[in-house]
Amino acid sequence: MTESDEFDRERQAMIRTQIVTRGVRDERVLAAVERVPRHRFVETTMVDQAYDDTPLPIGLGQTISQPYMVAFMAEAAELEADDRVLEIGTGSGYGAAILGCLADEVWTVERHHELVALAKAHLADGAFGHVHVIEGDGTKGLPDQAPFDAIVVTAAARHVPEALIDQLADGGRLIVPVGRSSRDQMLIRLRRCGERIDWEELGAVRFVPLVADKDS
Ligand code: SAH
Repeated sequence: MTESDEFDRERQAMIRTQIVTRGVRDERVLAAVERVPRHRFVETTMVDQAYDDTPLPIGLGQTISQPYMVAFMAEAAELEADDRVLEIGTGSGYGAAILGCLADEVWTVERHHELVALAKAHLADGAFGHVHVIEGDGTKGLPDQAPFDAIVVTAAARHVPEALIDQLADGGRLIVPVGRSSRDQMLIRLRRCGERIDWEELGAVRFVPLVADKDS
């Protein structure tokens, strides 16, 4: 068996034992997770753990999210093939790659210069030309490219940033972990219905903090 066959086998096992068993059933999401080689988004010293049921460090105190959480958030975003999507918190670029398999165009914003460079390198493969990595403070969203059909935030906010709500298209979904401490976070889905914003709680989660420029 080649190394790449071995990774394919590990990825299929990950989908079965970590993602489908916990209830993610959207076939497009499962196909996206099967397509993206997660081992290319982790540090070379951690390749052996790439398909483990856990987040992994990517430097600067940040992490690549647990595979199940990436799949769950992608399913919660209810993406369609012609959607325009914004991700806040690029990290390794793995989540953006998954969103890129599900939507027409993806913008992803990261505040750490080093991680922007890392994610760009991970996404340099021709398949991700429609995934744009932008350096900046994601709490402001990306007004130039708004509105978005979905916005996925991969770091925990103390309050949902108003700018992100403003940048949702009609019918758009905002998936965001909200909470003050790492032990007290809830994943929220907001949906814009004209002027009305509907809220749903999707479950307890644990993410690194969303840091606005004024906090640092
Ligand atoms: N989606 C990533 C996981 C990233 S962890 C992946 O698949 O690897 C969360 C990321 O959010 C970190 O890289 C952190 O630097 C970034 N972050 C935190 N606050 C931010 C902000 N205000 N704007 C942009 N990125 C932010």
